[in-house]
Amino acid sequence: MDLALAPEDAAFRDEVRAFLDETLTESMREAGRLTTSVFTDYHDNMPWHKALHAKGWVAPSWPKEYGGTGWTDMQKYIFASECARAETPHIAPMGLRMCGPVLMKYGTQQQKDFYLPRMLSGEDYWCQGYSEPGSGSDLASLQCKAVRDGDDYVINGTKIWTTHAQFANRMFCLVRTDGSGKPQQGITFILIDMDTPGIKVEPIITMAGDHEVNQVFFDDVRVPVANRVGEENDGWTVAKYLLEFERGGSSAPGLEIGAQKVRALASKEATGNGATLMDDPAFAAKLADTEIAIKALEITEHRILSAMSSGQNPGPASSMLKTCGTEMRQRIDELAVEAIQHYATPDQKDARMTGSNVEPIGPADAMTAVPAYLNNRAGSIYGGSNEVQRNIMAKLVLGL
Ligand SMILES: Cc1cc2nc3c(=O)[nH]c(=O)nc-3n(C[C@H](O)[C@H](O)[C@H](O)COP(=O)(O)OP(=O)(O)OC[C@H]3O[C@@H](n4cnc5c(N)ncnc54)[C@H](O)[C@@H]3O)c2cc1C
Repeated sequence: MDLALAPEDAAFRDEVRAFLDETLTESMREAGRLTTSVFTDYHDNMPWHKALHAKGWVAPSWPKEYGGTGWTDMQKYIFASECARAETPHIAPMGLRMCGPVLMKYGTQQQKDFYLPRMLSGEDYWCQGYSEPGSGSDLASLQCKAVRDGDDYVINGTKIWTTHAQFANRMFCLVRTDGSGKPQQGITFILIDMDTPGIKVEPIITMAGDHEVNQVFFDDVRVPVANRVGEENDGWTVAKYLLEFERGGSSAPGLEIGAQKVRALASKEATGNGATLMDDPAFAAKLADTEIAIKALEITEHRILSAMSSGQNPGPASSMLKTCGTEMRQRIDELAVEAIQHYATPDQKDARMTGSNVEPIGPADAMTAVPAYLNNRAGSIYGGSNEVQRNIMAKLVLGL
């Protein structure tokens, strides 16, 4: 496989670099550098979302007719790589990457006309109501109940681990509309306005001290039947389609940046006798091993991209990318914590807020290493745990 860029792709890369250079403000760059999970805080990701929207580049994966860019798959990959290299803030995936494609496939014309432009502009901010206490991997066992009453459903129950529900004004949600048959058969996919009376959002604080996830409670929440996506009791089909878009994507460029940061940190920190951690052959071998694995992932991402050029969905390949990408991220995080040595000890929550005037203790990149290590442990759990992804690959790819 020839990984050198074709001249037109090199020209596109230069155009993207020029745009990033002139558009990324110092506060956007800071927000990107301080991001320690998949999510950049709402107030920090929105200015970047709006700048991309103004340029027409906020939804590269959408078809052009809905406001996408019309880029080739290679151009999308180049764009994602350049954003990772520039350490832009992360755009929230729940609307643009997850709910958007679902509405395009299963939504009514009215739903598409109303929601898609608001996703693009950032006017609507989405959260995902799939998991419940006791229903994560075994998602089909979910119990949050919706009962038809005239033109509404009345919803009672709870959702958990709902990322950014504290910021979202919309939720796409799986509810149980029938408990009589197989669990998969009584589920309905519905769009909920988060301002509806009866919804309560309770924070869950992560190990790193961040407020990213929540538990959401529904107490007689009335949602119009017109907000249903797909048929009643056929939400499982819609839910599974969405998960293909939740998993996967291009993670190698961001991992490469992570590995470079580890190399820089380990080259700086003295370990005694004038040596640094990079002079330790065991550490250097671990880092090199990880860098080789990232290269292999990059080539796999390219391979899957070119297969998708023919219009196929990601399918079970998204399970492989999700598993490799999240496990590689955890390896990078472990090496980063090893590289910063005693700077792993102080809790620098105040210094790592955007706009903070608290001086970091140690190198600037050191203060995000431990929160990233802690937050990214979740990578192999959310979006379907990696064990479950391995089950999917065993069945659908290996035919076991
Ligand atoms: C930070 C974070 C953010 C999240 N954000 C959201 C969100 O925005 N919206 C949302 O709906 N959900 C969200 N989730 C929930 C996430 O999707 C679930 O945590 C995940 O599906 C796992 O479910 P569980 O936590 O119930 O664990 P369980 O399903 O109870 O799993 C426990 C362990 O058992 C293993 N296991 C379970 N079943 C099998 C099996 N069949 N074979 C092999 N091993 C198995 C799992 O791999 C895991 O190690 C988030 C989770 C986290 C941690």
